[in-house]
Formats: sequence, C-alpha cells, structure tokens
Amino acid sequence: MSIEARPLEGQVALVTGASRGIGRAVARALAQRGAFVAINYRTDVDAARSCLAEIEEAGGQGGLCPFDVGDAEAPANAIAALAKEQGRLDILVNNAGITRDGLLLRYREEDWQRTLEVNLGGAFRCSRVAARTMARARYGRIVNLSSVVASMGNAGQAAYAATKAGLEGMTRALARELASRSITVNAVAPGFIDTEMTAALPEEARAAYLAMIPLGRLGSTPEVAAAVGFLVSPEASYVTGHVLAVNGGLYT
Ligand code: NAP
Repeated sequence: MSIEARPLEGQVALVTGASRGIGRAVARALAQRGAFVAINYRTDVDAARSCLAEIEEAGGQGGLCPFDVGDAEAPANAIAALAKEQGRLDILVNNAGITRDGLLLRYREEDWQRTLEVNLGGAFRCSRVAARTMARARYGRIVNLSSVVASMGNAGQAAYAATKAGLEGMTRALARELASRSITVNAVAPGFIDTEMTAALPEEARAAYLAMIPLGRLGSTPEVAAAVGFLVSPEASYVTGHVLAVNGGLYT
C-alpha cells in the first residue's frame, strides 16, 4: 500500500463498540488507513478478538480495550491507560450504542436511564477524557455516531431518538469548545444500515423502511465507515460541528 493510502500512519484511534456492526467496519477502515486501532467492546470478547485478527491479517495494528461506556468510571480509567501506553490519542469514534425500543405509555424507567447512559453519557465521558490528551497535543478528531431518527423521529424510539438528537447538540457544542485546540468534532448520522441492530426489525417494518429509501436498499457498514474515514482524515481539517447524513436519501 502506498504512503498516500495510509494518511493515519502513526496515529492512535479508539473506536467504541467495535466488536461488530458499524464500529467494526470503522475499526477496519481506520487500521487500513494506517492508524493503531483500540477496539472497545463490552461483552463479546470473541467478536472483538476476531475484529483484531482481521485487522492484523490485513497488515494493520490494534489492541483490545474493553469497558462499558455507560459506566461512570470505567471509560476514564481505560482511555487514560490507553493514551499513556500508546503515548497519544488522535482519534475517538463514539460508536457504541443500544436501542431499547418501546411505546411511551409502557416504557420502563430503567430502559430510559440505560439508553441515556450508554448512548449519550458514554460519548460525553469518552470525549471528556480523550479531549484532555488531544488538547495537550493540539490535535484531535472526534466523531459521534448519531442516527437519522435524531431528525426524522420514529415511533417507539423516543429514548433512542432523544439520545441521538442530544449527541448532535453535543457535537456542535464541543466543536465550538475544542476548536481552539485544533480538535474537530463531527457526527455521522446513518439511515438504515445492514447490521444486527436492523436485523432485529420485524419484516413488515423492514419492508416499510425500504419503500421510503430513495436508493432502494439498506446501507452497508463500509459505506458508513467511509464517511467516518473522511471526517478523521487530514483532508477534513476545516470541517467541524457537522452532521454528515449517510442514509440513501431517506431524510434530508
Ligand atoms: P450493533 O451491531 O448492535 O453493535 C453495537 C456495538 O456496541 C457492539 O460492538 C457492542 O459490543 C457495543 N456496545 C454496546 N453497548 C456497549 C457498552 N455499554 N459499552 C461498550 N460497548 C458497547 O450496533 P450497530 O448497528 O453497528 O450501531 C453502531 C452505532 O451506529 C450505534 O451508535 C447506533 O445507534 C448507530 N446507528 C446504527 C444504525 C443501523 O442501522 N445499524 C443506524 C443509525 C445509527 P458488545 O456486544 O461486546 O457489548
């Protein structure tokens, strides 16, 4: 691979929720571009190991970095240890996310709390500790995984949509706050992407979504990873506070 194809050579990236789905594709894409990629996950060590094996087989570098992004303490400890061990942290992709769907009238308090803690609290805590190292280096790239439902809404997803809309607000606020340290903060808002998360959709819901997507198909995880790859690249140095939709035209 030519030097030009490895623009992230020498950089260290952390991708949360990288054991499968979109996070895994992002981890592979960043490693392919030359970054050392720390693969975060919560429970599935076998999936995380297989992601690392894929990266290494392709000639890339990485390591495992397990913690629960929804925990109050674990992200700070793990990310500080990673930055110390690697001597830097250039890229943070806040990808870990959960859906706990349910209609408002029957929605459980514990599902509301957990969705907020993981999707929004996790990105906040990881950004807080990563930004410390990035600020010292006067360089950093943070990308948050939002969702089309942040702007479109979706019945049965009040908690999930609230966290994703919150993430977009946080993206814009942190973009302003961290700009003076040359840290950019952006979001990618996928539409319906072919992952385990969408495989869980009932067949009728899936067909109804497909009918609404101008490109007529679900997106793929590499298509989302390519958008993240752009936002963390040197070419995106003047892009901050932006939410990049990757949704096949579903919602603009
Ligand atoms: P997924 O297939 O369900 O994978 C989720 C990943 O997050 C797994 O690696 C999982 O690891 C990890 N994770 C879950 N809870 C965690 C926690 N508390 N701490 C650390 N890691 C945790 O999800 P996906 O479909 O790839 O979605 C990835 C992101 O894109 C999410 O933020 C999602 O909201 C967003 N998104 C997805 C779609 C879509 O169509 N799929 C559309 C729009 C937005 P373990 O299994 O080890 O816990």
